[in-house]
Amino acid sequence: MGLIRTIWPSPFEVDKTAYFETLENALFMKILVATEKPFAKAAVDGIRKIVEDAGYEFALLEKYTDKADLLAAVKDVDGLIIRSDKVTAEVVDAAEKLKIVVRAGAGYDNVDLAACTAKGIVVMNTPGQNSNAVAELVVCMMIYMSRNQLTPEAGKEVSGKRLGIQAYGNVGRIVARYGKGLGMKVAAYDPFVAPAVFEADGVEMVDSLDKLYETSDFLSLHIPATDQTRKSIGYDLLTKMPKGAVLVNTARKEVIDEEGLIKAMEERPDLKYITDIAADSQALMNEKFGKRVFATSKKMGAQTAEANINAGLAAANQIVDFFKTGNRKFQVNK
Ligand code: NAD
Repeated sequence: MGLIRTIWPSPFEVDKTAYFETLENALFMKILVATEKPFAKAAVDGIRKIVEDAGYEFALLEKYTDKADLLAAVKDVDGLIIRSDKVTAEVVDAAEKLKIVVRAGAGYDNVDLAACTAKGIVVMNTPGQNSNAVAELVVCMMIYMSRNQLTPEAGKEVSGKRLGIQAYGNVGRIVARYGKGLGMKVAAYDPFVAPAVFEADGVEMVDSLDKLYETSDFLSLHIPATDQTRKSIGYDLLTKMPKGAVLVNTARKEVIDEEGLIKAMEERPDLKYITDIAADSQALMNEKFGKRVFATSKKMGAQTAEANINAGLAAANQIVDFFKTGNRKFQVNK
């Protein structure tokens, strides 16, 4: 009964060959959770339950330090759930049966999409599942920098200040709502979002990046790391910011032109930078700029129990749904 329930559609609705191919697959499906930085236990338990209730085999590889462990673990799996783990062409090659990778989170720049696509492997993310956690961290970071990293010297309030949001996706929209809640004046730039969305949210739509930087006391980055955005935030934009401005980065370190950032901060001793993803030159920046810069010790935007559970369970449900119904709603390598 358990196995029959894993098959959809019913054998009476499809031709026999397709049905038995599906049955064969359903019998041997193995799903691996491979996380160098593990999910919370409740998330792992939930993923295991979803996978096993579907009649599939569950496997777990956590806290691995050697790439060889990942290469060995993926060898016989059909589905793979990861977090920030790197799915390189080498991993894809080693995964002889792999059909789907789900990145539990929003950014999927850690997956070699071309290598997956070449082997017909579907890649998905779980958009929106950790957005609130990241947005709350942005609020924390703005206040932390305004209060001089919680040292006793007098700081500034964020209320009444201008908050600029670069990229108005799942995280950016929540940051806008929280910024308004704090009494900030919120504007955003995202050429891929319809004006009606900004209007509905009561957020000013800015049509140029230059203008966004010129008018933001706090600038929160939410662009994905793509060929277009890598190293796109540098000297020219940063030196347009008003006196005392703070750049908040919970997106990716790759979107920053670090040389340009350093040059801008050298010339402008009023600028501050806080990031959830330490720069390659973070040690140098800490030395040069002291309390004007701060980086979390490890990326922690999505590190909440809630985000772990939401993203982990969504990833498991998406894999099961893909195998049972062919649903590719969140595929990113179309
Ligand atoms: P999302 O996909 O919901 O939104 C991304 C937005 O970026 C979209 O609205 C898109 O239109 C916009 N965009 C793309 N290219 C752009 C460009 N060149 N200029 C302006 N806008 C552009 O993603 P999200 O959930 O809001 O997450 C945003 C990014 O934050 C992710 O790509 C990821 O890199 C990062 N992130 C970090 C953490 C963390 O732990 N710090 C967690 C989640 C996401």
